[in-house]
Amino acid sequence: MTDLRQPRIVIIGAGVAGIAAAHTFKQAGLTDVTICEKGTDVGGVWHWNRYPGLTCDVPSQLYQFGFAPKADWSRVWASGEEIQRYHRDVVERCGLDGWLRLGTEVTDAVYDDESATWTLSTAAGETLHADFVVCATGVLHHPHVPRIDGLDSFTGPVVHTARWDPGLETGGTRVGVIGSGSTGVQIVSALQPQAARLLHFTRSPQWILWAPMGVRQPAPLTALLRRSPGLQRRLYASALWASGILADVVLQPTWRRRAVQAYARSSLRRQVRDRRLREELTPDYEPLCKRQVVSGTYYRAITAPNAQLVTGPIAEVTPTGIRTADGTHHEVDVIVLATGFRTHEYMRPMRITGRDGRSLDEAWAGGPRAYRMTAIPGFPNLFTALGPNSPTGSISLQFSAELTSRYIAQWIERWRRGQFDAIEVTEKATDEFARAVGAAMGPTVWNTGCTSWYQTAGGQIDLWPFDRKRMEEMLDHPDDRHFDEVLLGS
Ligand code: NAP
Repeated sequence: MTDLRQPRIVIIGAGVAGIAAAHTFKQAGLTDVTICEKGTDVGGVWHWNRYPGLTCDVPSQLYQFGFAPKADWSRVWASGEEIQRYHRDVVERCGLDGWLRLGTEVTDAVYDDESATWTLSTAAGETLHADFVVCATGVLHHPHVPRIDGLDSFTGPVVHTARWDPGLETGGTRVGVIGSGSTGVQIVSALQPQAARLLHFTRSPQWILWAPMGVRQPAPLTALLRRSPGLQRRLYASALWASGILADVVLQPTWRRRAVQAYARSSLRRQVRDRRLREELTPDYEPLCKRQVVSGTYYRAITAPNAQLVTGPIAEVTPTGIRTADGTHHEVDVIVLATGFRTHEYMRPMRITGRDGRSLDEAWAGGPRAYRMTAIPGFPNLFTALGPNSPTGSISLQFSAELTSRYIAQWIERWRRGQFDAIEVTEKATDEFARAVGAAMGPTVWNTGCTSWYQTAGGQIDLWPFDRKRMEEMLDHPDDRHFDEVLLGS
């Protein structure tokens, strides 16, 4: 048997997708792998987001890697801190530490047609060379700081939830929280009990599904899972299967969707008795259209005597508070921006230059675009993990990242066997995929008339509109008809 070539691989990002890719590559016998992570630790969003009350609204027994099940989650819905510890633990347990370079920000990646290799530069001025680059840079990464007149003039602390200051003391102060997505709802619930006053500035109310998010994982279940890895595998498989119901609910307008929507409406009706407040909290779009918010505490928090919902548009921030368009000045000591992320930026601000000197910014001038979430025409030997159209609203992210990584590993295996030096997805295949995505978006709930971070500037919905089976089919094996292979010197 001929010796296999050993490619140099750079994975950019050590969050969920980067860890999944690294583990998959290790399993595939790849040894020359570098993971560049600009943060001071692994975990991606779970490293950057540390705001009070951060909890994952996906059950922990599902929100984990298939290859690294954890028996002893302390809660059914784990805290951000526990999830962050889990990621660190997985990296150590799977022996990925040696590949990891923390505090290493990649600023540029340039493809060389002659050698079919990538040259990467870091913020520290280093140069790395790679045969393959895997961008695992995440979606919810760049904090969105809204342009509000006077925001700079505020004399107290202004903090974005994704860059929380652990030294910030909000107890006994008047806190203004702007934003009512999953983050805003969680942080309002967490800060309200200790705040002197909590004002929640809500431009668009969200539907909120009630769930007992604080419930502990039963100790006998933990003991059972510890004793029986087989049982844990079955539990994970069942959780994946059950999550298919969620995918079905958002993808198809069936009675199942209507049942979940009815539950969202009844969650509001049953918990908010004050008719006027209930009206203010009632969204003007269908439940599930935006990323669904889940909480067991928000309605209680916002109806507390020290809390106030402010629905009037914000006109300006003053040195001492927030003025709404009706002229009311709301005095606050601290402003919390729970205003989300500049989604769809993916690998930016990295400068990525592909074949023939074409930049990613040029290639994506019309919005992010990738074949089956992972390959971009014009960018040979570069893949994305949890890239454009990833199922952030329907299917397990860990599952999707692992599946994509195994797909990428198959291409790399072909390279190792000398089948090609460069592989590049065709424009035609990418267009066909985009058309199929556009057509399948029709009946999804995301397309029922709300605005959300799922939408790109061009108005496309940047999600996965198919079920898990279809994802497995699409990423089961490389389809030669969709790629051009280049063998140097031939
Ligand atoms: P988000 O869902 O994008 O919400 C941002 C909020 O800020 C919205 O309410 C938005 O109002 C408001 N906003 C933005 N600019 C504003 C402005 N200029 N004036 C007033 N309001 C403004 O962001 P997020 O809450 O951080 O959540 C992002 C995603 O992170 C979630 O959807 C979820 O996928 C993930 N997440 C998950 C968990 C979890 O438990 N798993 C927890 C937190 C976050 P409009 O709606 O009117 O635009």
